[in-house]
Amino acid sequence: MTGNRPHVYLDYNAGAPLRPVVRDRMVEVMMAVGNASSVHGDGRRARGRVEEARESVALLCGARSRSVTFVSGGTEANMTALTPQWQDKGAPVYLERLLRGATEHPAVAAGGRFPASMQSVLPVDGNGVIRLDELERLLAEDGPALVSVMAANNETGVIQPLEDIGRLTKVAGGFFHVDAVQAAGRMPIDMEAWQADALSLSAHKFGGPQGMGAVVAGSTARVPAPLMNGGGQENWRRAGTENVAGICGFGVAAALANDDLKDAGQLAALRDQLEAGVSLICPSMKVFGSDAPRLSNTSCFAVGGIPAETALIAFDLENVSLSSGSACSSGKVSVSHVLSAMGVDEHIARCALRVSLGWNSSEEDIARFLNIWPMIVDRLNPEARTRAA
Ligand code: PLP
Repeated sequence: MTGNRPHVYLDYNAGAPLRPVVRDRMVEVMMAVGNASSVHGDGRRARGRVEEARESVALLCGARSRSVTFVSGGTEANMTALTPQWQDKGAPVYLERLLRGATEHPAVAAGGRFPASMQSVLPVDGNGVIRLDELERLLAEDGPALVSVMAANNETGVIQPLEDIGRLTKVAGGFFHVDAVQAAGRMPIDMEAWQADALSLSAHKFGGPQGMGAVVAGSTARVPAPLMNGGGQENWRRAGTENVAGICGFGVAAALANDDLKDAGQLAALRDQLEAGVSLICPSMKVFGSDAPRLSNTSCFAVGGIPAETALIAFDLENVSLSSGSACSSGKVSVSHVLSAMGVDEHIARCALRVSLGWNSSEEDIARFLNIWPMIVDRLNPEARTRAA
């Protein structure tokens, strides 16, 4: 609480609060001695805990547990998968091109281990959905390609047509990586149906610890060249002593997130309540990606004349945490590359707010947001109360 203002957290896509059961398990494991690579009893017990967590993470994405490689988070998972050098059933393969979506998170947009000259961007339509005609055209060009696309967007929640993208990629002889960092625990993951060769996960988006992630291999037995070389941990796929407590926290969070998938309808109801409430006050409200399938937990919207940065500060003063669609770096607020790629006008993009919900979100949180919103509108652009789009 700040004063008597209750704290409301509406920024799960940035990072979900740690689930108490996860914390308890991590504390318990942290107190136990043992390196998971040691042959003595302490080491074997640590190994057992790691393998139990691996099974739970595998279950979340319908994979076999030996396909899961633990890494330090979503960024490392993407960096690992985005390499020209792969093994295909044990034989080395060199991929000559990276095709990645225009709305990818910077952890993919940076291109991983592909030099800029080997990268092409897949454009999206006005809803932020990858243009399949462009994918097909680019795949038809020379050289084996790695296609990297996020399952669901971190800013808008827009879900990509992964089965179509996987099918087109495979027909063209390409490899397919899916950044499922925002999707995991929020929509079913089906690597088989997507024909995905590799998937990236991050524990802190669904109530696990920060600094834990995984690269999951598909049933195609294709694996990217390791990013970290050294010891033989993680089946020679990621060197370095395993973070046993972090891995165990990840495992518990994955099991809970898997259970929570059945509650997606409740989150969608909260999200719809919020969007309906805002549009009742401000009829000109624009919801980005609303004509495409979206994650049930995410809403990215704007009301003209209400700059996101100012609104964020006003919410923060009321002890409500949310995000804007813009990024502030070196003191300059830049417009979201996601909204730019969707063709959103810069003036409206600067007003984009992102509300994202999760395991501990409640009706009270939405009510509090809707209680504060009219005050912000009255202060920044009272005309928005009546003006329709
Ligand atoms: N990919 C997506 C879609 C993300 O939203 C994020 C983080 O916000 C990442 C990758 C990076 O994950 P991490 O913060 O675990 O490095």
